[in-house]
Amino acid sequence: EPVIVAQDVEKWYDNGFHVLKGVSMNVYKGEVLVVMGPSGSGKSTFIRTFNALEPYQKGSIEVDGIKISHDLKNIETIRREVGMVFQQFNLFPHLTVLQNVTLAPIWVRHWPKAKAQEVAMQLLERVGILEQAQKFPGQLSGGQQQRVAIARSLAMQPKVMLFDEPTSALDPEMVREVLDVMRQLATEGMTMVCVTHEVGFAREVADRVVLMDGGYLVEENTPEAFFNNP
Ligand code: ADP
Ligand code: ADP
Repeated sequence: EPVIVAQDVEKWYDNGFHVLKGVSMNVYKGEVLVVMGPSGSGKSTFIRTFNALEPYQKGSIEVDGIKISHDLKNIETIRREVGMVFQQFNLFPHLTVLQNVTLAPIWVRHWPKAKAQEVAMQLLERVGILEQAQKFPGQLSGGQQQRVAIARSLAMQPKVMLFDEPTSALDPEMVREVLDVMRQLATEGMTMVCVTHEVGFAREVADRVVLMDGGYLVEENTPEAFFNNP
């Protein structure tokens, strides 16, 4: 069943730029949908509407049955449902790995510290960085830092995860670490949307690929068909 239903989404930036020109798309439970397209085509803006990081003016977006209102008045609810991972990890450098992962559960969800730590340790184990729990982000490789960012996002128990160029800041040999974690999450039923322009990564991580161009969604296909187009 669809977890994200976007219908005729239109957005203008404050300067009048029409960035999304009626985009419709479903994302189904447990799939990795990859969004590709030229720089400036609206990919990042589009996925940012799914967690209310960007308001939109027309159309509708529902996540797990919750409609994201145009004025973003239900922003708190939506942010809990939808986790996001960024190109630059965005970890807190002065906090340990464990503290980075427990921060939101303690302060946003009001979990007792012990429970938050127990869940965080399980998540760190799942993404393969349990041994790094007491280190600081600066002591880790890029691939390890991105896995901390994924664990931190999962700690809020989201229904959906968004990834905006998650491998662009990584050395090529670390891309596999992120890819493996994302495929593992998909088998566990996590619904994911990922913007990337790395073809090799996209081909392996995607269940389905959509192509954006100039604010329109212009193609939707399986990765096999998408990447074998002449
Ligand atoms: P992509 O992710 O495909 O590279 P973006 O969604 O980041 O594209 O941006 C799409 C277009 O919207 C770009 O031309 C960008 O310059 C423009 N844009 C992004 N943010 C703003 C903003 N705050 N105000 C005006 N234009 C913006
Ligand atoms: P990326 O391609 O990595 O998404 P961009 O260069 O498109 O980054 O945008 C970086 C930041 O600048 C974003 O916060 C975006 O909203 C903002 N931005 C981009 N284009 C414009 C614009 N034309 N006017 C105002 N803000 C913009």
